[in-house]
Amino acid sequence: MKYRAYNAKSFKQIEQVKTYMKPEDIKEIEIASLVFPFKVNNYVVTLIDWQNYKDDPIFRLVFPQMEMLKPEHKEKLLKALDDEDKLQKTIYDIRMSLNPHPAGQQANIPEINGKKLEGSQHKYKETILFFPKQGQTCHAYCTFCFRWPQFTGIDELKFASKEVEVLIEYIKAHPTITDLLFTGGDPLVMSSKLLRAYIEPILKAKIPHLKNIRFGSKVLGFWPYRFVSDSDSEDLLNLFREIVDSGYHLAFMAHFNHYKELEGEILEKAVRNIRKTGAIIRTQAPVLRHINASSEVWEKMWKRQVALGMIPYYMFMPRDTGAKHYFELPLYEAWKIYKGAISKVSGLARTVRGPSMSATPGKVAVVGVNEINGEKVFVLNMLQAKNPELVDIPFFAKFDEKATWIDELKPAFADKFIFD
Ligand SMILES: *Cc1c(COP(=O)(O)O)cnc(C)c1O
Ligand code: SF4
Repeated sequence: MKYRAYNAKSFKQIEQVKTYMKPEDIKEIEIASLVFPFKVNNYVVTLIDWQNYKDDPIFRLVFPQMEMLKPEHKEKLLKALDDEDKLQKTIYDIRMSLNPHPAGQQANIPEINGKKLEGSQHKYKETILFFPKQGQTCHAYCTFCFRWPQFTGIDELKFASKEVEVLIEYIKAHPTITDLLFTGGDPLVMSSKLLRAYIEPILKAKIPHLKNIRFGSKVLGFWPYRFVSDSDSEDLLNLFREIVDSGYHLAFMAHFNHYKELEGEILEKAVRNIRKTGAIIRTQAPVLRHINASSEVWEKMWKRQVALGMIPYYMFMPRDTGAKHYFELPLYEAWKIYKGAISKVSGLARTVRGPSMSATPGKVAVVGVNEINGEKVFVLNMLQAKNPELVDIPFFAKFDEKATWIDELKPAFADKFIFD
């Protein structure tokens, strides 16, 4: 299949949209996509059950929904539709009110010898995140995405960099760094030629303490042809092989939201091709209302991933950004979903951790709910922390059936949380 992308203007040309979608639903997508980024492609469209598109998880994953707008925003937007200047300002204002930059990401821009690594983030000692400039897009866009400011032209918030030499200098100067994580957007939208421009200097530098190279990517869900029949698929797989043959652990951090993304011959082929290079595929995803908020979905997803040879890794809580009110669910509910699924899979899938919140002090997982001396509490654990001493010391919060994030919880048996 040859890649073809559609946006808010062109999606009406999609055959299935023409055949199945009601005009009023098309109109709603057009309005919602004024605020939320929208991009779909000819492969993702085939994953949708078009007879029931409104309830389809993949449809909701990529087609912005009217309900993603808060009622007051929707009203403002509808009123501004006829006045182009007013409309642009309204769109901008709504976007800025949606917390486009959560969890203090900008505070972590690293520096070396007076040079800033704009396209990087170094929060945890052992792992540096790198956002290659040309990888700040994706083969389609997720409606919940917390990186959405990068696609909407709010340039001052864009993490991007060409500076691989500075990156190498930085890693060399920080012996605690074992992991380099390429992320985005999606770094694997880049051509293999461009990826080589980043990877080859790193391999050549032979930094002794750097052991693991990771790619965070949704390309297996959105465009598995990347590893099967794109014009540079073979070269991309060769690059993977070269990384592995240079002695690195190559970790493909694959983002899957639903088991529907794990079906089909092309996906199977892509996974097999990646695994044959020696790369290890680990999987992660946020738990989202309207998309995957049920134990059955996660159970099926993890079972399928393991059967395909992947390692389930993280279940995340959605971040406080974008249309959070539409996708969010209470921590208690997320934990019940996790528990319901994990109790039905074999040990090979019980590698997954979560539900976990990427908050300012670190990654906090809900371990469970229990009663201690008659008080109902959440048991929490830090899986990652700015201060590594805090990792893996279980701590407690008062039970709260409705809380959706750590900042809504109150400490139990203590007057503050361990990270305060
Ligand atoms: C999650 C995360 C990492 C990687 O953490 P692991 O637990 O090692 O996968 C690194 N940096 C940031 C900012 C993160 O949020
Ligand atoms: S693939 Fe990742 S970066 Fe791209 S839109 Fe989805 S969540 Fe965001």
